[in-house]
Amino acid sequence: MVRRITILGATGSIGRSTLDVLGHLDEGFAVEALTGAANIALLAQQARSVGARLAVTADPARYHDLKAALSGSGVAVAAGPQAVIEAAQAPADWVMAGIVGAAGLAPTLAAAARGATVALANKECLVAAGPLFLRAIAEGAATLIPVDSEHSAIFQVLEKTAKPERIILTASGGPFRDWPLERMAQATPQQASAHPNWSMGARISIDSASMFNKALEMIEAKWLFDAAPRQVEVVIHPQSIIHSMVGYADGAVLAQLGPPDMRGAIGYALSWPGRAALPLARLDFAALGRLDFFAPDEARFPALRLARAALEAGGAAGCVLNAAKETALTAFMAGKIGFLTMAHVVEEAMDGLDAQAAPASLEDVFAIDAEARRVAGGLCAARAA
Ligand code: NAD
Ligand code: MG
Repeated sequence: MVRRITILGATGSIGRSTLDVLGHLDEGFAVEALTGAANIALLAQQARSVGARLAVTADPARYHDLKAALSGSGVAVAAGPQAVIEAAQAPADWVMAGIVGAAGLAPTLAAAARGATVALANKECLVAAGPLFLRAIAEGAATLIPVDSEHSAIFQVLEKTAKPERIILTASGGPFRDWPLERMAQATPQQASAHPNWSMGARISIDSASMFNKALEMIEAKWLFDAAPRQVEVVIHPQSIIHSMVGYADGAVLAQLGPPDMRGAIGYALSWPGRAALPLARLDFAALGRLDFFAPDEARFPALRLARAALEAGGAAGCVLNAAKETALTAFMAGKIGFLTMAHVVEEAMDGLDAQAAPASLEDVFAIDAEARRVAGGLCAARAA
């Protein structure tokens, strides 16, 4: 039987890598749906080249452009946030959740609820709505496979018969690892999005520079691996060769290594529980020579401290952290606030909002998310340069 594939966020970095990996697999597949947002030309080209049944843009204003770009192709076309959710509900066996930000929450939840195999790149689902998302996976009898490289690494070395004692997330430290704080304060969006090792979308690249990406990943790890806050550690590893590690009660630590190429984690999610041949570079240890590790400096990277606070607080703290971070990131990218101001905005939003109660429904999540964006937006405006 041919596997049916849907890619949410097909035009992004993860989506493009997913199509690339699919092209290298021996197995046949059929594409059910591809979704995108602004890049209509790429979405149409992708849908034509794989013969997708459906192509959806999240932006209703671009419906006619997409329709025109796909005329005569036989690909069905739809637009708007609800159409993205419907694309996720369409009967695909395997769904890549590759939309960036909290916008990925409702579609990914819809794929989980109908029992798909969900390859989860979108970390915001677990950060903003961990228990709800895991409940949707359980109730839908869905299969969840992490794609974030760190969480894929941990998933790959998890013992079936032993509980982890420690989850050790590796972090490259991003482009500003060695910059003085005064220089970081002046950093431009362009400098912040130049990641030393990984090629990723602009938003996650800047989150890597601020280490908000690692902050989200700490919370993601808590939900994926049922870890207590103190069990989640972060270590800087500038080469990004060890993608993360798990420590056990006997002192043994298992690590997963590979080149910094997301096609590894995506390919694993496509071939799990097996391993398919992938066209990735092979590690040459003698050429590498050494792997380095450092403790992260929380003065330089307050995002890690804020993540720890959110882990300890529970409730809706992750949702607030993420929504405030998304708002501050957008303001930074628009040149409205400085690089270091992002963390101040998130911290003040977390301090100023009552996030004790855990969201009981998706509506609760959206309400808290909207309130956090409103507060963070006000803080950004007050601090605008
Ligand atoms: P990207 O910006 O390159 O792509 C984002 C995709 O989401 C695009 O297809 C875009 O059209 C779509 N999108 C944007 N806004 C949308 C909206 N409002 N509604 C529906 N769709 C929308 O991002 P990316 O780097 O591919 O990251 C995607 C997700 O994967 C993020 O959650 C990121 O944290 C996670 N992730 C990415 C990488 C990576 O290497 N890129 C690694 C690990 C995890
Ligand atoms: Mg990651």
